[in-house]
Amino acid sequence: MTRGITSLVTTSDGETFANPKNLNKLHKKLRLAQKSLKRKTKGSNNYQKARLKVARIHAKIKDSRLDYTHKLTTQLIRENQTIVVEDLAVKNMVKNHKLARAISDANWGELVRQLEYKAEWYGRQLIKIDRYFPSSKRCSNCGHVVEKLPLNIREWKCPECGTHHDRDINAAINILAAGLAVSVCGATVRPERSKSRKAGAKKQKAPNSDARESRAVS
Ligand SMILES: [Zn+2]
Repeated sequence: MTRGITSLVTTSDGETFANPKNLNKLHKKLRLAQKSLKRKTKGSNNYQKARLKVARIHAKIKDSRLDYTHKLTTQLIRENQTIVVEDLAVKNMVKNHKLARAISDANWGELVRQLEYKAEWYGRQLIKIDRYFPSSKRCSNCGHVVEKLPLNIREWKCPECGTHHDRDINAAINILAAGLAVSVCGATVRPERSKSRKAGAKKQKAPNSDARESRAVS
């Protein structure tokens, strides 16, 4: 699975899970409450009231996010024997301000943590892929790696084989293939992988029918 910007999670068979809708509403409320707090005189009663209001909305956002993450991870673990996830450095990504909210909404670190212990509960396999693995820039059809793929590009066409890709689904397919290669031959997934291993990984791609043996979530 891949972590998306537009959706919280995209799987290798193209299923997407959006961020919970009430979060947008709460973020709007939060902005308003923060603005109102700024206008108050520090130390005044109204300032204290406004500060509490901001804190309460923050807590609500946190609860709602966590609640949704639990629903999502339980569903993913129940439905799949093997799950492959990208181990992302969320902190590094949050430095880019435009993406900061989208990514922290996605709550990736918490999502991976929950998948880890739920996989244990349910006897599932969770495989984590090196975060430097070029999952997005690699064409899942022919293996060609494009030089650049800015985060705002959500769809692209492979210059080598002409396949049209949805950014997140393509990445999820790559992550799944890489993860299964790891589980099969104990390989370490690194940016530079040999051609033969790539081919091996492809063959291991999970069938989309067959009750979803394994799925990458990214
Ligand atoms: Zn291609």
